[in-house]
Amino acid sequence: MNRSLTCIVCPNGCTITAELDEHGAVCALSGAACPRGEAYARQEIERPMRMIASSVRVTGGAAPLVSVRMTKPIPKGEIMRVMEAIRSASVPAPVAAGDVIIADVLGLGSDVIATRSIDQKAV
Ligand code: SF4
Repeated sequence: MNRSLTCIVCPNGCTITAELDEHGAVCALSGAACPRGEAYARQEIERPMRMIASSVRVTGGAAPLVSVRMTKPIPKGEIMRVMEAIRSASVPAPVAAGDVIIADVLGLGSDVIATRSIDQKAV
């Protein structure tokens, strides 16, 4: 079986074709103009990774939500479980940009961190 994809590593956008074995592993690649594209195609086919950006509830804050992102990409197949963990989380104000909101989420080796600061609600 063959699979084609567009490399997104640089603006050249090479079309890479991968020949897959019966287990879905890459056995041959063609169309990549450089090794970075081959590495991208191999990972995207065999173990696709994604970054997530979302928001987490803030209690007692000047804003109800704080925007967050992952510190490292996670496996694409774990996105729904990670999004559920993010949806279930809340953090007390104040929050500083860079604060770890969920450490090593689901044991995937990536933290969920705040990308902005939220002050405490004025009284
Ligand atoms: S294969 Fe190499 S040259 Fe082609 S788009 Fe990917 S990174 Fe760029």
